Amino acid sequence: MTTRNHCLERDAQDPLADLRDQFDLPPGVIYLDGNSLGARPKASLTRAQHVIAHEWGHDLIRSWNSAGWFDLPKRLGDRLAPLIGAAAGEVVVTDTTSVNLFKALAAALSMQAADPASAGRRVIVTERSNFPTDIYMAQGLSSWLDRGYSIQLIDSVDELPAAVGADTAVVMLTHVNYRTGYQHDMRATSALARAAGALIVWDLAHSAGAVPVALQADGADLAVGCTYKYLNGGPGAPAFIWVPQKHQVRFRQPLSGWWGHAAPFEMAPGFVPTDGIGRALCGTQPIVSLAMVECGLDVFAQTSMAAIRDKSLALTDLFIELVEQRCGHHPLGLVTPREHARRGSQVSFTHPHGYAVMAALIARGVIGDYREPAIMRFGFTPLYTSFTDVWDAVEILRDILDRQDYNVDAKRDAVT
Ligand SMILES: *Cc1c(COP(=O)(O)O)cnc(C)c1O
Repeated sequence: MTTRNHCLERDAQDPLADLRDQFDLPPGVIYLDGNSLGARPKASLTRAQHVIAHEWGHDLIRSWNSAGWFDLPKRLGDRLAPLIGAAAGEVVVTDTTSVNLFKALAAALSMQAADPASAGRRVIVTERSNFPTDIYMAQGLSSWLDRGYSIQLIDSVDELPAAVGADTAVVMLTHVNYRTGYQHDMRATSALARAAGALIVWDLAHSAGAVPVALQADGADLAVGCTYKYLNGGPGAPAFIWVPQKHQVRFRQPLSGWWGHAAPFEMAPGFVPTDGIGRALCGTQPIVSLAMVECGLDVFAQTSMAAIRDKSLALTDLFIELVEQRCGHHPLGLVTPREHARRGSQVSFTHPHGYAVMAALIARGVIGDYREPAIMRFGFTPLYTSFTDVWDAVEILRDILDRQDYNVDAKRDAVT
């Protein structure tokens, strides 16, 4: 039987334990919501001060060149690329995940339309359980195009082989499900799409910085993702888009702003896309927020996704084991796969009073979140979560459940 002392021992042997000191976490908080908003790297405060006071305040407009503002989306993209199995020159950090998904989907549809063998394909296949904005963006794009595109929602991965066929233009999937933590087999699913003549667009919102991703090796076509979750880029930090070299020449996206122009400062009236990944850009970026992304990436540069994955699985295994051991007499249902290959870096349990129990946990400093229906979500971020945190969180959960110390009439907040 695992004890708190075992957890202390594991922390003492944890090769990532020192990285926690690079984050500013308030005392008395066990933060299990890095899958929604990553914790703040300490360095972000001095970086923000420098960007605001020096780069903006002192150097003013010269900073577009002297501080590298203009190249920042590409430079950060190059730094992020190794975390997702992409090459330099294939990723930009820019815009939001929703907007990047719009660009990626539009480009994928246009690639298919330009190929006589695929031009008749009109279906975008995705999952009903996908994060809603992904579905909404696909719906918005296809209805706006008004060319007979439709969205096919599947209810389980088992339906994919039958769903993806001669009429499928694009398969659009979120690699790790935001609610259940289910992780798709990127290689097998990408191969399935390719065999059917479809393109596959992956959303890495819950994967980047959370699980090893090998976009290139696994045969993905396009991808987007988030920097404010596991990558710790800060609230609303710009997202990213990956366009592999093999698709860059054919990549056409409708948000043809001047940042994607071949010669933006010629101020010519006609749009000519630049070569390379720059054509995924649209307009001027929020530099202060964008600069914070680097502070998160700096922490990742000190370790490896393999080490992060080892600890992530150890933390999630421990959490499942302890909840089942210590809270097993309560009506909790594990919805996250036990199989390592199918699990992201979160664990979700249902409870009939999930919202109220989560509210009670948060009131006692254990911050996870709640998603309909009845799902309590706990994100595990190996850079700053310890094994003892897991123990202590489960003890607080057990205490709340045993004493029924939660208010079933708790009022719902709009967010969290
Ligand atoms: C978090 C998340 C988003 C967020 O999109 P925004 O445009 O940043 O609001 C999109 N898709 C998925 C799958 C997510 O998990």
